[in-house]
Amino acid sequence: MALRDTWIKQRLAEGAARGDDNVTQMHFAHMGVITEEMRYVAQREKLSPELVRDEVARGRAIIPANIRHKSLEPMGIGVAFKCKINANIGNSATASDIDQELEKLRVSVHYGADTAMDLSTGGDIPKIRQAIIDHSPVPIGTVPIYEAVTRVRRMEDLTPGLMLEVIEEQAAQGVDYMTIHAGVLFEFLPLVRNRITGIVSRGGALLAQWMAFHHQQNFLYDHFTDICKIFRKYDVSFSLGDGLRPGSLADASDEAQFAELRVLGQLAKKAWEYDVQVMIEGPGHIPMDQIELQVQKEKEMCYEAPFYTLGPLVTDIAPGYDHITSAIGAAMIGWHGAAMLCYVTPKEHLGLPNADDVRQGIIAYKIAAHAADVARHRPGARERDDALSYARFLFDWEKQFELSLDPEGARTMHDETLADPYYKEAKFCSMCGPKFCSMNASQVADSYTGQSQEERKARFVQLLTKIDLPGTPAIQPPAAEPVAVPEPSAKSS
Ligand code: SF4
Repeated sequence: MALRDTWIKQRLAEGAARGDDNVTQMHFAHMGVITEEMRYVAQREKLSPELVRDEVARGRAIIPANIRHKSLEPMGIGVAFKCKINANIGNSATASDIDQELEKLRVSVHYGADTAMDLSTGGDIPKIRQAIIDHSPVPIGTVPIYEAVTRVRRMEDLTPGLMLEVIEEQAAQGVDYMTIHAGVLFEFLPLVRNRITGIVSRGGALLAQWMAFHHQQNFLYDHFTDICKIFRKYDVSFSLGDGLRPGSLADASDEAQFAELRVLGQLAKKAWEYDVQVMIEGPGHIPMDQIELQVQKEKEMCYEAPFYTLGPLVTDIAPGYDHITSAIGAAMIGWHGAAMLCYVTPKEHLGLPNADDVRQGIIAYKIAAHAADVARHRPGARERDDALSYARFLFDWEKQFELSLDPEGARTMHDETLADPYYKEAKFCSMCGPKFCSMNASQVADSYTGQSQEERKARFVQLLTKIDLPGTPAIQPPAAEPVAVPEPSAKSS
């Protein structure tokens, strides 16, 4: 039986007795209830369950947890929690299959992705998505317009009815959050004409194409309350998409970007009327000196809903290295208050990432998110840094590897030159060698003044007792028994 089966069954039964089909975490938070998911998140964050509930109730945190995602291990996204990272997986029309996508999911979870987005745009999209949801212990996000577009000959043929159908199908499958580009309004289209890179969001550009052809308003905006009604039945969270995000430094912080952001804030308020959880997506390509401004604007215009940012990339000149250009911006925006960072791989703008690109992107973003946690003085954030530093100084190579974000990578690099087990006791590595190892020389200096390393070792051992090293969460097999979830009623849809 999956972790949440009993929790959900019980809540559904209680809801049915009350005649209440709203199952969102925000709904329970507003009723003053601390759900099991909130307790679980509180334990993971080392915070009180009451604080988690209160953050969800005021919209400053979300727990993306569709009641049909049975293999999920609940996690929270919000400024009061540790900074999270998302990994994008999914195929394109020209590459990849289910096995490759599950391998990307495995790599993502293994290296510490907190959520994963399935951005598949080709092949049997529902089948790939179901496999990913069934195997994933982390929340799964999607951009439903991608699948909707594959069901019509051209974007202009898409209808609001088909869009809602796809959204409901994905919700019923167990998707935990969806990117909905409802803030790209018809009247904003002229604002991007003078940009260098126009509209770079796939969803934003497709909607612009539809609106320009039909001379009509964005149907995601017009039908926003219909989407809220679907989301509250399954507890799908909004990730309100930044369809007009800047795709180059020259386009950063312009009128189009902030016009859309203001609408996203209004939509967040609308979603909260239905107790639907919301986070707000952010840029993009932003120079370092504008990053703090981005967070200030989001807080001000979107009422502190969790900010979920792509990067941002802080320079445009490094194709092939955009996991680095964006991780610099991600660390900064996380420090200023972004709640989740969407990774970028080295293949950004160049091709579909493979499993190794995914690994590189995740490691870069784990570094960025952790650096943000340390800078924001989140409780216990620096303990692992201090422990690794003790291990380094005391030449405890095994612990040094274990405490690393990428233990296999660190060990491989060490062993490239000094592979013999003897060197796991050595007081040097091949960088400086025995005679010039500064940390060894420092210990020798200590010994000349009568100081041993015992006290330092004792502090190290004590510190290790406080650290929960993330294990590798198991990729879940599909649960055997479905949770009994009432079919959507005509009344509420
Ligand atoms: S040899 Fe140099 S790089 Fe290696 S552990 Fe010692 S100080 Fe560090």
